[in-house]
Amino acid sequence: MGHKWAFCLLTGLLDAIFPPVCVLCGSRLSSGGITACKDCWAKAGEIVGPLCNKCGTPILSQDGGGCDFTYLCGICRQREWHFDIARAAYIFDGPVKDAIHLMKYQGHFLMGRWLGNKMAQIIAEEDYYKKKDKTHCMIIPVPLSPERLRQREFNQSAILASSVGRVLDLPVYSGLLERLNGDRPQVGLTTKERWSNVRGRFLVSSPERVINKRIILVDDVITTGATVNECARTLKQKGASAVDVWTLARAAQRFSL
Ligand SMILES: [Zn+2]
Ligand SMILES: [Zn+2]
Repeated sequence: MGHKWAFCLLTGLLDAIFPPVCVLCGSRLSSGGITACKDCWAKAGEIVGPLCNKCGTPILSQDGGGCDFTYLCGICRQREWHFDIARAAYIFDGPVKDAIHLMKYQGHFLMGRWLGNKMAQIIAEEDYYKKKDKTHCMIIPVPLSPERLRQREFNQSAILASSVGRVLDLPVYSGLLERLNGDRPQVGLTTKERWSNVRGRFLVSSPERVINKRIILVDDVITTGATVNECARTLKQKGASAVDVWTLARAAQRFSL
């Protein structure tokens, strides 16, 4: 009880000295917490069904998908993915894009936790997850290479993954999947270069720990799917029984094959 009072008093004091403001527009927030205001976040493009059953791309009505839950998009009809299913919470645009930049390039740690909660709550509401067998399930973030981790000081996907783990009540293993030094960033590469750039660049530090495990792989943004597909290939090669990909956002513009 005493602790709770002290905490409330401290939070109240901090709010009075540093009034909480929206990180995107700077307007005052009515309650504490370092997040975006309702007006800004109302413009976030939350992904709603119907979706491609495999990669989670939203299906436009003229695409002929309708409400057929076995529907596959044009890319998934042609490509064999190593992951089982991919889902994203938002379209990578507007306030979501701004928020991801704050988290990633300005080290906005609390923003990352807030986004991770949102992501987990949205994707966990999907039928696919409600029906999923959660035994032997674990969460693994897409890793950064040691080089890049040193430059950036933290892995944004690991922050998201820890929030997802808390919401879903599942264990998070951040060091299990590793990324080798020396790859170029995917940003700015063509689709073809993106696929060859990530090939063979991941390894599992303790392979015995992924055998027969159902893995939820967490990343911030899915663009071509090349990175998460390579992670899934590596994990399955070491005996993982399933790999689902959860990302906070997916690129608004799809890349061709
Ligand atoms: Zn705002
Ligand atoms: Zn698809």
